[in-house]
Amino acid sequence: MTIHGSFLPQTPFGSDGVSVPRIAIVGRGFSGLMSAIALLRRVRTPFELLMLDPHPEINGGQALAGAQIGAILNSRVRDLSVADDDADDFDTWLRGNASFRNAVSAAIPGFRQIFVPKGMFSDYAYQRFSDALALRHDVSIRMRSELVLSIARRSDSRFAVATGEGPAEICDIVVLATGYGTTRKPTPSQPETPGATAIRARRLAPCPHIVLLGTGVRVVDRLFQLRDEGYCGRITLLSAHGFLPRSHTRFAADPMELEGEIPRRLRDVVPFLRHACRAAEDGGQNWQSVMNAFRKQARSLWRDLPAQEKRRFNRHLRAIYDSHRNRLPEPHYLRLMRELSTGGTVLRKGRAGAFTNDGVTVRWPGETREGFMAASAVIDCRCAAPDLAAPPLSTLMQDGLAMPDELGLGVLVNAHGEVLVGDQATANLYAVGPLGLGSLPDIDLVPEIVSQAYAAAGLMTQTCTALASTG
Ligand SMILES: Cc1cc2nc3c(=O)[nH]c(=O)nc-3n(C[C@H](O)[C@H](O)[C@H](O)COP(=O)(O)OP(=O)(O)OC[C@H]3O[C@@H](n4cnc5c(N)ncnc54)[C@H](O)[C@@H]3O)c2cc1C
Repeated sequence: MTIHGSFLPQTPFGSDGVSVPRIAIVGRGFSGLMSAIALLRRVRTPFELLMLDPHPEINGGQALAGAQIGAILNSRVRDLSVADDDADDFDTWLRGNASFRNAVSAAIPGFRQIFVPKGMFSDYAYQRFSDALALRHDVSIRMRSELVLSIARRSDSRFAVATGEGPAEICDIVVLATGYGTTRKPTPSQPETPGATAIRARRLAPCPHIVLLGTGVRVVDRLFQLRDEGYCGRITLLSAHGFLPRSHTRFAADPMELEGEIPRRLRDVVPFLRHACRAAEDGGQNWQSVMNAFRKQARSLWRDLPAQEKRRFNRHLRAIYDSHRNRLPEPHYLRLMRELSTGGTVLRKGRAGAFTNDGVTVRWPGETREGFMAASAVIDCRCAAPDLAAPPLSTLMQDGLAMPDELGLGVLVNAHGEVLVGDQATANLYAVGPLGLGSLPDIDLVPEIVSQAYAAAGLMTQTCTALASTG
């Protein structure tokens, strides 16, 4: 896809004496791309933008990696706008796409409630980035295909962003958008990751048994991919909690008015939700409307929970919460149920240990010793948490510029994307997207990433204006 606007692929920052603010975005997955869109649309003064990622392409990051053509997003079009001032922007874009409009004519006049292929969302986000850049002749942008190894604060308060190649880039503002980290390289003990070279069903065809680790939407994607490519052997879905994604309703489920206040203590929340779901279904509504209402308040509930309660949630409830929030479009859910009913695919609950191409060690519920499940291939479809011990996060922590959240899932961050140390924001350092998953519920989903990116851009506007007037 073509990018319009002013790219400066060869011009090194800092060598030309130009005194416009420099902003580095580390990571070019969806969070990085979204941060760039928000900056281009919100910051009205000139700036230079540097986007770094070892992957040379801009493809939406892990969410797209390994996606087959036609793999469907699990959020409706109405929830995927990248414009904070126009909730229907994705719908408008789709309606302007003649081939899509013709293919889905039944949905005309609008596509707000439907589910579309991942590639289509990726094209849309990329197009909006390109559109926003085309309007900004006062912004220069540069891509570097390198891994960022350290980010250090200089004595003049700017950041030195180093990649190991050439001198460090000196930047005024840094946005961390490293999501789930870089894709792990296959090792003999951990041969595959969802983003690694795709295992083709053709290669697996003679295999009698494949184990897929995890039970989230990635597992379902991979299961369907294997079947679509003709693999007929046995498949085991193995996960610690054994909760599969639930189904979306056929038509959109708007959040409903909940009776009474949601309790603030974790142990009271579950019975409250159970009761609300039952009451909704008895009244002809659905549990999805209850969950959608609950999620609207999840952020304030999470903020008020003591650390110990958050840890309990993470241990015992996150898997079930995820299975209710990351829902499958109804036809996909029904296909999954059909798969399981044939016996060719089985769901098993057990904690996976080390795995090789021969199988995986498993701690089954109630057993103290590890067992072994033989397999012809083991494919890891679990969501990799960011590695806080790896640079550049480790260097930021060592220097006291960032700290882990209470659960150690990522860095401490607020809804504006400000990186926090205790209750103090680290000046001009932001983190957007799943890096904040231990601080903010659902920050791995498009609507939350979009609003965090715009909130962060709003704060950066002030910094850029101040820097422009002093520079
Ligand atoms: C096509 C698509 C489909 C999606 N489907 C849905 C959906 O249906 N519903 C929903 O709400 N959400 C969806 N999402 C959002 C998704 O769930 C993820 O949460 C989101 O994509 C996270 O993006 P990310 O950029 O934060 O992380 P990642 O995708 O993990 O990208 C992070 C990037 O940072 C780079 N990186 C890591 N470390 C470094 C470093 N040290 N230096 C430089 N670069 C580094 C990595 O190489 C990687 O490219 C989708 C997103 C896309 C693009």
